[in-house]
Amino acid sequence: MIRCIKCGMEYSLDEIIYTCRECGSILEVIIEPEVSKDVFEGRKETMWKYKEFMPVDESKIVTLQEGGTPLIKCDNIGKDLGVKLYVKFEGANPTGSFKDRGMSVGITKALELGVKSVGCASTGNTSASLAAYAARANLDCLVLLPQGKVALGKLAQAMFHGARVLSVKGNFDEALEAVTRLALMGEVYLLNSVNPFRLEGQKSIGFEIVDELGWRSPDRIILPVGNAGNISAIWKGISEFYQAGFIDERPMMVGIQAEGASPIVKAFKKGEMEIEVVENPETVATAIRIGAPVSYRKALRAIYESEGLAESVSDEEILEAQKLLARREGIGVEPASAASIAGLIRLLDEGEIDRGEEIVCIATGHLLKDPDTAIRACEEPVEVEADISSLLEVMGGKTSSM
Ligand SMILES: *Cc1c(COP(=O)(O)O)cnc(C)c1O
Ligand SMILES: [Zn+2]
Repeated sequence: MIRCIKCGMEYSLDEIIYTCRECGSILEVIIEPEVSKDVFEGRKETMWKYKEFMPVDESKIVTLQEGGTPLIKCDNIGKDLGVKLYVKFEGANPTGSFKDRGMSVGITKALELGVKSVGCASTGNTSASLAAYAARANLDCLVLLPQGKVALGKLAQAMFHGARVLSVKGNFDEALEAVTRLALMGEVYLLNSVNPFRLEGQKSIGFEIVDELGWRSPDRIILPVGNAGNISAIWKGISEFYQAGFIDERPMMVGIQAEGASPIVKAFKKGEMEIEVVENPETVATAIRIGAPVSYRKALRAIYESEGLAESVSDEEILEAQKLLARREGIGVEPASAASIAGLIRLLDEGEIDRGEEIVCIATGHLLKDPDTAIRACEEPVEVEADISSLLEVMGGKTSSM
């Protein structure tokens, strides 16, 4: 069933509905499969390893083998910070971000419902992913992007997979409002994270973390928060495995926002359940450049229930953390993803996180999503003639052993 998170009103799984007809709040899918975790054993490492927990018809699954992403132990940074650090590298998904998990379920649901066209507003990755999965499922795809604010790699993907791409004169929040109106008129099936089936796919990040750690939780999971769907999804996944008795404890959930787009952090610091919308959100981390997060209530619930935290970081801290991951661990992520590491560093400095904790940071998207920002952060390559003396000259005359 689908249930309103505020008033508890229930709806059928085959209804096309995005918000509660009684109170206007967002919805969630309720699923309580009765299986033992032994059923997962020996299955391929994709998110469909946990198919019993996915509320779709197994015969219709649209997949590019998303999920099963690496959980990378990061001892170089971890030792410096004094924590046991893992990075869950979501850049390893088919289109380079965790959005693929949600789209695999969302597009499968679209086929079940028999719709012909799907749509979304996007800061970039949602559109890249939707375009790919819609192509695979033979569905028409419409995406609305905030003009001039989408990273180059993401734009290339959305266009190349054949989506109808519209550049909206406005920010993400305005584009989402516009496409939502189209969806309510029945023009497209909406696949933003207000659609609760998206989060059903993304909750598999939580499944994979506790599975890989040997059926236990880390002390904390830290991730960037934009529209706030993913933190809600991971908490939902962890909680479902906890309810099923697969794990004995749950982690603290820590959401990180950019200073210029941090309505959830502000609400958390006041201990409130409601947010104040940020009218003109600004940050280099375009994937979290969102002022009116749709899933804020689910996210705050996850943070409070888990005794977690929310913190904001500056663009400088984000870009520094992005470089740190690339240069100390070999992990290339886009700016938004690095907010998790930047947040960890700040919370350690503030004494909010203890040294010695076991921490999983979610690296949400791949470095190549935003090549412009990466190149801007580096010096240009030195031009050189292709002969040995010129090479040695620019290398500073070095002939020593390697
Ligand atoms: C979508 C996205 C986010 C934000 O996730 P929300 O579910 O909107 O909070 C963070 N990082 C990347 C790379 C993303 O694509
Ligand atoms: Zn309701």
